[in-house]
Amino acid sequence: MRMKSFFYGFILLFSIYACAEKNDADGIEGLLYLDGKPVSIEVVDGKIANIKHLSSDLSTPGVYVAPGLIDIQINGYMGVSFGDQNLTIEQMREVTEALWKEGVTSYLPTVTTRDHERLLKSFLLLTMVMDDEEIGNSIPGFHLEGPYISPVKGFRGAHSEKYIRPPDWNEFQQFQKAAQNRIVLITVAPEMEGAIPFIDKCIESGVVVSLGHHNGTPEDIERAVDAGASLSTHLGNGCANMINRHNNPIWPQLSNDGLSVSIIADGSHLTKEEVRTFYKVKGNEQTILVSDAVSLAGLPPGEYIEDGDTLLLTEDVVKFPTEDVLYGAAQPISRCVGNIMKFTQCSLKDAIQMASTNPARLMGLNNLGEIAPGKRADLILFTIEDGEMVIQKTIVAGKVVYSKD
Ligand SMILES: [Zn+2]
Repeated sequence: MRMKSFFYGFILLFSIYACAEKNDADGIEGLLYLDGKPVSIEVVDGKIANIKHLSSDLSTPGVYVAPGLIDIQINGYMGVSFGDQNLTIEQMREVTEALWKEGVTSYLPTVTTRDHERLLKSFLLLTMVMDDEEIGNSIPGFHLEGPYISPVKGFRGAHSEKYIRPPDWNEFQQFQKAAQNRIVLITVAPEMEGAIPFIDKCIESGVVVSLGHHNGTPEDIERAVDAGASLSTHLGNGCANMINRHNNPIWPQLSNDGLSVSIIADGSHLTKEEVRTFYKVKGNEQTILVSDAVSLAGLPPGEYIEDGDTLLLTEDVVKFPTEDVLYGAAQPISRCVGNIMKFTQCSLKDAIQMASTNPARLMGLNNLGEIAPGKRADLILFTIEDGEMVIQKTIVAGKVVYSKD
């Protein structure tokens, strides 16, 4: 508790400092992630007011400044699952603070396949959390992954078969009611009965539709894209271990220009060659990094029981031995930024685009994902050490929410 009051005290102090410094363009300084040149960023009322290029060197060399990371698929962190039926505001605060520490300024708490009552309760609980303005600032909405996905082993991944069902618009409306219309992204399987009219209705109501945990044919996928689906959820995962080399759902998603792809570049979910290939096909504009972190992420390796399932947490990943599949990721999105640069040799500018700008654009979060006048001042200051991002400071809506020192 003492640490916490210190933390809030710090925020308060900075806020006073920020107010006093409102007109001082030297507030935030760093090497701009776009070109590595030193800049100073002026923040007024939580928004970026001005970006000034500096002619002199920075007082702290090697510190980059970029827009905050945006993770559109994260199931939990540090022992807290967003699907927990006893989720509290305190837990959400702990998770959000832990994510700020990793440079994540916005995220979509992701809830996966469960029975009707549990999903309903999850959205009621998550919505309650949004009443806390500071946490709410970092949560632009929720991601529902399932339950309208493929029930086939392998494609369903770690989702529980007994709760998988065909798309049901009436049921989804009940979830949206509980969530006060904050479900902004849904992952569905396009081959499920009724999927295409369901996608139509989602798009009509402003929900972004992603294809995932499916074994759709090229025709299913094309119909889904025509209906407005715009993303593939963690491409290359949520797929059976053995697939036909010609006829499988990966090729038609890669070849369809209407689909961006999200990928888990943690080094375990996909091989380097897969990451490289997906990136070469989809490019900077249509590749999105996600963590897909689960509640065990951030905890010490070992065997854990969750919802009655035995899970194995290693240094890198969470495994689900019963189904011989990966259960989820154990690393935050900041690690994926370092990895994708290593795997593909892309620039820092490109990696940040995939972890911030692209998810903001996909989700229509027009005030986020870029450093430009008028955007919300969600900024991260970081160094790169041994190819990894080391977050020094995280700023949300102009407030310092994490500082390493
Ligand atoms: Zn999944």
